[in-house]
Amino acid sequence: MLSNIISEQEQLLLTKVIEKSKNVVVVAHTAPDGDAVGSSLALRGVLTKMGKNVEVVMPDALPKSIIFLQGATDIKIYKDNQEECNQIIANADTLFCLDFNEPKRVDLMQNAIVEAKAYKVMIDHHINPSDFCDLIISYPLLSSTSLLVYKIISQLSLDKMVGKPEAEAIYTGMMTDTGNFSYNSNDSDIYIAISQLLQRGIDKDEIYKIVCNTSTINKLKLNSYAISEKMEILEGGVAIITLSRGELNHYSYQKGDTEGLVNQPLGIEGVNISIFYREESGYVKVSLRSVGEYPVNIIASELYNGGGHKNASGGEFFGTMSDAVELFKNNLKKYI
Ligand code: 5GP
Ligand code: MN
Repeated sequence: MLSNIISEQEQLLLTKVIEKSKNVVVVAHTAPDGDAVGSSLALRGVLTKMGKNVEVVMPDALPKSIIFLQGATDIKIYKDNQEECNQIIANADTLFCLDFNEPKRVDLMQNAIVEAKAYKVMIDHHINPSDFCDLIISYPLLSSTSLLVYKIISQLSLDKMVGKPEAEAIYTGMMTDTGNFSYNSNDSDIYIAISQLLQRGIDKDEIYKIVCNTSTINKLKLNSYAISEKMEILEGGVAIITLSRGELNHYSYQKGDTEGLVNQPLGIEGVNISIFYREESGYVKVSLRSVGEYPVNIIASELYNGGGHKNASGGEFFGTMSDAVELFKNNLKKYI
């Protein structure tokens, strides 16, 4: 049995909110990952089976590796259709905000979310939730929002509504937010949940293959190039990798091609912090990972307008690649 997660008061309130709602909208963070998409699709599946009218709206496009999830292509992309999405959000009576802790994380959608009249429920696992929601269900100790959603569904005795598609979505989020259960993954409830999800007929090996181990020649070459030519090991066990737009274009970069790259240097003995800088148009996307007691979310928030988890965070730098790297190098001593 999975242990209960939310308090009795949260359970009562959430039950009432779900009971009353008709038009539900589920939203998640920009650059949606497996956890954002997985938790959203699972919640939509369950609520739809309960007779609710449910839409999922994401700020921008899904990574290709996640499109296999049932219902992923029905997700509305705000960036592509703002007018329709604004309508959908404005018509919602209940708005679930999944896998993010502050309005800034939904990018262009921020105003629509903050101003929506709907009752807002946050379900998330990032520290320091800001108070833009009416009900805040925030459990930073949980490894993924997908596990949190599954635990809540189970606690509300709605788990009979979890079929194979919902189970696949939950498993995908649990897997991606733990690097296929290689970090943040010592909670025994994770494996109780997986066992229950397997009973719904999911093929976890196939999901791993589709999401984490599907490559193209260009993707493999780009990642090899990044490690062999662009990785720099700094003092104090910090690895940095930079990829400029020109380099990305040279390997016909597609969204998601550098997923997981930032984790690679952590396998090197003595490396505790890994930072990957990817040049986007007008800014540099920064991904940070660490092992043990190195809180990279502090670096993300202090230097790169970002945040995240202690061992996995991200942010953005509005300036050149060399300034982004320089900023870290100038502050390196503070963080090692
Ligand atoms: P990734 O490096 O995979 O883009 O992000 C890793 C984690 O860092 C995400 O799950 C999210 O928690 C956090 N994160 C990534 N980018 C940002 C950002 O721009 N702002 C904040 N606050 N968190 C971010
Ligand atoms: Mn997450």
